[in-house]
Amino acid sequence: MVRAGQLVVRTTLLFSVLAFGQASVPGAPSIPPSVEQSAAGPAFDIRAAVDAYLAKMPPAQRARSDAYFEGGYWLILWDFLSTVLVMWLLLHFRWSARMRDLAERLTRLRPLQTVLYWVQFFVVVSVLTFPLSVYEGYFREHKYGLLNQSFGPWMRDQLVGLGVGVVLGAILMVPLFGLVRRLGRSWWVWGATLMIAFAAFVSLIEPVYIAPLFNKYTTLTDARIKGPILSMARANGIPATDVYEFDASRQSNRVSANVSGFAGTLRISLNDNLLKRCTLPEIETTMGHEMGHYVLNHEYKGLVMFGVVIVIGFAFLNWGINFSLARWGEQWDVRGITDVAVLPLAVIVFSVYMFLMTPVTNTISRNMEYEADLYGLNAAQQPDGEANVDMLLGEYRKLDPGPIEEFIFYDHPSGRTRITAAMRWKAEHPQSANEDEVARPLFEAK
Ligand SMILES: [Zn+2]
Repeated sequence: MVRAGQLVVRTTLLFSVLAFGQASVPGAPSIPPSVEQSAAGPAFDIRAAVDAYLAKMPPAQRARSDAYFEGGYWLILWDFLSTVLVMWLLLHFRWSARMRDLAERLTRLRPLQTVLYWVQFFVVVSVLTFPLSVYEGYFREHKYGLLNQSFGPWMRDQLVGLGVGVVLGAILMVPLFGLVRRLGRSWWVWGATLMIAFAAFVSLIEPVYIAPLFNKYTTLTDARIKGPILSMARANGIPATDVYEFDASRQSNRVSANVSGFAGTLRISLNDNLLKRCTLPEIETTMGHEMGHYVLNHEYKGLVMFGVVIVIGFAFLNWGINFSLARWGEQWDVRGITDVAVLPLAVIVFSVYMFLMTPVTNTISRNMEYEADLYGLNAAQQPDGEANVDMLLGEYRKLDPGPIEEFIFYDHPSGRTRITAAMRWKAEHPQSANEDEVARPLFEAK
């Protein structure tokens, strides 16, 4: 699950690649239930078992969750269009050129000029996109009952995110423009390499320096939960001290866990909602999923796969910038690709690319999430716990989409896909059945 990253990501699409740092990657090849192979005998109907789980959510709540998630499809479009519009304003009215001029007046040092331009750019863009951000992140979340924060604490998180974006962006922009100036035409190859290294860097520092700015992280202490988790960690060859708990309830009631960090900072974290709302089998299966990300090296695989997306994106970026500057460069008072004032154009071109790549990046993520699901089923052997957790995730992710919808929009498998995998696993491992989990009501009718 993407946490702190999402705040950074919102304003500049250049940053959308950061999202891969947090390896909550879901993806699901379609899985036809194979009732015939059921070791539980003909009595266990996988499809009926899946439907019974889906029926745990009252219809009104289901409709609300669907509406929330489907609205998110449109937000992808509105975010894209608003980014393009804001960037176009910066170019058309030459605000970008003026920010560059101001930076040049303040210092002669080029790296410092880049930093000064970036600070102005990031703050102005954040202000211009604020109405959409506040609708998406605050009012809309409240409307669907998914946010616990009042405006003050929410705004505080936004400002912290702005600060993080200013600092991280500067760390990226200075060497990036340095490369463009020194390397000329081949800049994009090394630019993409730098971008990938930067993403790994952000992922490395995220759990230690960024995530704690938004939530309090403590090591998990409850022995009844810690014991079984550490035992499962040892069974899967995972360093046994790496389980953290964080106060996600500060922001919402969403159940979630994640793997974050990289190399030395890699860690598994559970949120307090999961601990409060879930039974031990449910927590175990969730941890099995997260351990799957760890053991299957999803951080590294993600870096490689998203790396390919980034390299192609930078080739497109190079072409798009040169194409546009030849036509409108003078009109915008942008001197060339080495001029920092080109940044809004770069964001437009890269946003177009990332917008078109949405199904690709979602599928990369979704496939890894599905792998982690299967790993979790094998590790925890709690298919009914897994189905219940999948239902709880259905509070904010539409449970039963069509296949094309899932392919395009889902960065995690849908509830139906995940529960089908769990029930197929249960059918073939009948000793794993847990009647308490089957009977457990998850939602109060509202
Ligand atoms: Zn995951």
